[in-house]
Amino acid sequence: MSSSRPRAGILVTGTEVLTGIISDRNGPWLSQQLAALGVDVVVIEVVGDRPGELLHALERMAADELALVVTSGGLGPTADDLTAEVVGRFAGREMVLDVQLEQRIAEILKPLMARWHGVDPEAVRASNRKQAVIPQGATVLEPVGTAPGLVVEPAAADGTGERARSGRADTAAAGAGDAAGPTVVVLPGPPRELQEMWPAAVETDAFRRAIAGAPEYRQRIVRLFGIPESEIAATLRAAPQAGVALDGLEITTCLRRGEIEIATRFDPAIAERYEALIEFIGQRHAGNLFSRDGSTIDQQVAELLRGMMIAVAESCTGGLMAARLTELPGSSAYFAGGIVAYSNEAKTALVGVEPVLIERHGAVSGEVAAALASGARERFSASVGVGITGIAGPGGGSEEKPVGLVCFSVAGPGQGYLTRSAKLPGDRADVRDRSTTVALHLVARALRGERD
Ligand code: ATP
Ligand code: MG
Repeated sequence: MSSSRPRAGILVTGTEVLTGIISDRNGPWLSQQLAALGVDVVVIEVVGDRPGELLHALERMAADELALVVTSGGLGPTADDLTAEVVGRFAGREMVLDVQLEQRIAEILKPLMARWHGVDPEAVRASNRKQAVIPQGATVLEPVGTAPGLVVEPAAADGTGERARSGRADTAAAGAGDAAGPTVVVLPGPPRELQEMWPAAVETDAFRRAIAGAPEYRQRIVRLFGIPESEIAATLRAAPQAGVALDGLEITTCLRRGEIEIATRFDPAIAERYEALIEFIGQRHAGNLFSRDGSTIDQQVAELLRGMMIAVAESCTGGLMAARLTELPGSSAYFAGGIVAYSNEAKTALVGVEPVLIERHGAVSGEVAAALASGARERFSASVGVGITGIAGPGGGSEEKPVGLVCFSVAGPGQGYLTRSAKLPGDRADVRDRSTTVALHLVARALRGERD
């Protein structure tokens, strides 16, 4: 199936990305968008702001016979912003001034100029003009900031600027492997600008031509909690023997925030095969498959809390649980508040944990987690209280209570507690982050009525 899908590359430009000063947010985002369109992304490459490197990367992608290349960055007004020019040269198109585009950019700059004092209007005009110089015949994507994006098809060998492969769109996967080279979509670097411009790029005729023949694709996600990835691998291996065919299902499993996510992409025509696979996984891992519709545990907890308030008292997570519970918009409907009670004194003074409990069982204990949960619930007059206390490491562990041991408790709704402890793997950051996942799953179970 993948052989008939148009192949694409993503070319991220920016010395700040190459050197690791900022991490790339455009490559992964674009990859997901292209995948959803049925395009097979084969490479994401990062290059610095050097025209030679940029050209080389484009040539490598052309040699790899890609149908489409999407670039990000280097569209700004400064001298180091060279992408449009390099792509023009690569596509064999002359650079020309688009007078109307220059005018539209000038309109965008007017209010900005009025806001900045002391800017040299001549310098602004020059950079404005630079951004309006584009490869002849390119499709312009209207600026979201000040820079326009571009969709640039390769010029025909005869120099008419007509796309060499136009008129051949009837052949399957037109463009793939075409000697004329890939169509290049040129997008700005700032992620917000790039994302806002993307739909306009997808709608252009040039883009459509480049990905002609892309099959309709569906992507579904299911999530599991509380089993190792190897178990899922074993289940996938066992499926064909159990009469569950996997042909045509492109399955990716990944470990994320302590959960296993299985993303599957398939032709809608074989949706039944996918459903059969999920049934099979559900049978083998009934207690672990918590989301069949792709919903997250955060969304499920928000849904389950409908009409109730939740409060937290947390120690080793230092506020991460409160932060996570407020990640979704609309969280004020169910989140009352949280207390970070890091020291023993704070646990007592702010949450009302009896000092004798701490003395007898230790700060990291189910008893103290339960006292934190009920204290949080009481102090915020909430229906549900959550307590978290643990040893995030790297120091502070003992034989009895090793690094990574975290105790969780949920008080309510109604009577009773649900208290658990877990030895979480990973470093300090992993332990703290995973603790919030474990706590959310415990909250979901409590909200479904489970008690100790
Ligand atoms: P500008 O007009 O802002 O110069 P540009 O299209 O020239 O836009 P760049 O100069 O490459 O874009 O990048 C501008 C800024 O956008 C970077 O400093 C960075 O903050 C952000 N940015 C660029 N590329 C990425 C990326 N791949 N991931 C995350 N942020 C990025
Ligand atoms: Mg720039």
